[in-house]
Amino acid sequence: MKSIQRSLFQCVRCGTCRSVCPVLDEVGWESASPRGRIMVMKSLQDGDVPGREVLESLNTCTTCGICTVSCPAGIDPPMMVQTARRELVKRGITSIELLELNENVSRSGNALGESSRSWPGISLPQPERAEYIYFAGCMANYRYPETAARTLQLLNRFGVSMLSDEQCCGSPLLRTGFSAENLMKSNLEQIERLGAHTVITGCAGCYTTLKKDYPPRLRVLSVPEFLAENIPLLDMKPLDLKVTYHDPCHLGRAHRIYEQPRQVIEAVCQLREMKESLELSRCCGGGGGVRVGYRDLSLRMARRRLQDVPTGVDYIVTSCPMCIRNLRDAGREKVIDLADLVAMAVKEGL
Ligand code: SF4
Ligand code: SF4
Repeated sequence: MKSIQRSLFQCVRCGTCRSVCPVLDEVGWESASPRGRIMVMKSLQDGDVPGREVLESLNTCTTCGICTVSCPAGIDPPMMVQTARRELVKRGITSIELLELNENVSRSGNALGESSRSWPGISLPQPERAEYIYFAGCMANYRYPETAARTLQLLNRFGVSMLSDEQCCGSPLLRTGFSAENLMKSNLEQIERLGAHTVITGCAGCYTTLKKDYPPRLRVLSVPEFLAENIPLLDMKPLDLKVTYHDPCHLGRAHRIYEQPRQVIEAVCQLREMKESLELSRCCGGGGGVRVGYRDLSLRMARRRLQDVPTGVDYIVTSCPMCIRNLRDAGREKVIDLADLVAMAVKEGL
């Protein structure tokens, strides 16, 4: 906890963060607020023995980062929470659900514990050399293969290929306090063997992980950034649709990728903003291991996010398969990826 010691004392307990935390909105207890979590970490620092309540306080943070942008003292609570989770895991303290997640990912190489992947209407490339790689991520690979296939077909027009044995990027493990060394090593070796210099991902969690946890020599782009850069070359027709855009926390607040997805949407149809968007966009509730450990809480957050959707839109568009999953599970069927929207607009089809 040494690395967060300073932040623990920097918190002036003003409570500004209480008004924005999506978990606190559902749970109501101080221990489920950013300020409460900081107090919990302070008690650990002072030598308190962590019990179930401590784990619950730390493990219910989705790492959405809205408290970080709101904190007048410049504190980054989700960074602190992740550090504390790592410390606890080192001491063998975590929840059964997260332990199972760790075992699943380590055994199968993906966060869903699947044994093989198959994408409809497309044979997965087995390249020997490639400069650009599409990194689909577990959720797209195994739960939204149609979207993954469409994204690859779009990117393939620009010579983008993919890894033949893509492993989980490591995000679910790193965010919950575990190590992801083997997975990262395998992905990196494959990327380097192909001679690739750029990785393009359609998942917000993978984006943050590839950008922050992999070596900085890797150039990482999100699918919205890549598509926005190439709008004139995509040859798209206008669509008679009204859509809204959900900013994934790990693309928006974490990396300020706000304009690019909106540029792509506005190139093909009408965009109507959500009640809360951009920096103040509400979390879908799925990140930080919360969907795995606290499914009901996660879905309650997603349902609240759905209240921000403007009336009369045909689709909610987003750029993260985890957000798609959580928002759909919360009851809204028409949640699609930005690549799905572009695929509808491409003139000659995919
Ligand atoms: S807003 Fe910042 S300083 Fe204020 S209580 Fe929250 S974390 Fe502490
Ligand atoms: S990162 Fe999000 S969920 Fe976690 S404490 Fe901050 S506001 Fe709450």
